[in-house]
Amino acid sequence: MSLEILIDRIVKSTKHSQEDVEELILKKQQELTNLVSKEGAAYIVAKELGLDLVERKRVEVKVKDIAAGRAFTLHVRVIRVFPAKEYDGKTGKFKVGNVILGDESGSARMSLWNEQTEVLDKLEPGMAIEIFGGYAKENNRGELEVRVGKSGGIKKIEGVGLPEVGEVASTGPKKTCVADFSPGGSYRVKAMVAQLFENEKYYEVCPKCGSRTKEEDGKFNCKDHGEVKPTFSIVVSGVIDDGSGNTRGVFFREVAAKFLGMDMDQVLERRGKLFECVDVLGKEFIFEGRVRQNQMFNRNEFIVSKVEEIDTEKEVEKLIKGFAPE
Ligand SMILES: [Zn+2]
Repeated sequence: MSLEILIDRIVKSTKHSQEDVEELILKKQQELTNLVSKEGAAYIVAKELGLDLVERKRVEVKVKDIAAGRAFTLHVRVIRVFPAKEYDGKTGKFKVGNVILGDESGSARMSLWNEQTEVLDKLEPGMAIEIFGGYAKENNRGELEVRVGKSGGIKKIEGVGLPEVGEVASTGPKKTCVADFSPGGSYRVKAMVAQLFENEKYYEVCPKCGSRTKEEDGKFNCKDHGEVKPTFSIVVSGVIDDGSGNTRGVFFREVAAKFLGMDMDQVLERRGKLFECVDVLGKEFIFEGRVRQNQMFNRNEFIVSKVEEIDTEKEVEKLIKGFAPE
């Protein structure tokens, strides 16, 4: 884990500011007469603040602090339980059931899928539960909801210190927004394309495995497949903005093609006039990806791994059908 990520985790999990944490780390390092690295000192500081950064699944958070891209543990009170309903999906039938839960910081919806819904029979309002291996996902109403991961689960707890059902705060978790981005984190945001850099950057890739090839004396080599006749791929970048802030989004290969509204064949055919019929400026998408720090330019970049076009009509239809049961 890099120092930036460590500091970020400590800041997010405690009430300390970035400056405070950096100072604590420096002090710790000096206290240990600089025998440990900054990273080492950061781990010690984290531990002293009660955080266990090694086991990410144990990061306990309050409802208002749940964020996409981080596994967490929640201690909450069950407020309402909605029975599971069966739906017909593209890939067959599926079941969804919802639970409203909360703590002193806020309330949220937890949605349970398929075999997970079996636990619904055992839950009732007023019960205190621990959700471990939980994660947050934005639902089709733009709210962050709690999901239970593959290695996660739900168990009954004593609930000492948790507010009673009527006393649970009613504010929900904040949605992730560009302003919250920090290096190392994974995020899902709804944002608009504010700028598209229209320079065509095609590069040579191995036709067998798709990895970037190295050029030597006009010959192209793949590290696994030796000399190959390369095919091409692209990288596209632009600025995305969600109202809270903006960042540079970087798109590779199929993700870039989808972002531009094409498939890879079209991308290759349109070389030299790639951006001619592209019209993404001002368009809204849901972007998923990771934030990394570009050392060379000293800026954050959002490496997008998935783009979803926002289909307004479909969104409305889903709301009308009441897809997500209340
Ligand atoms: Zn290859």
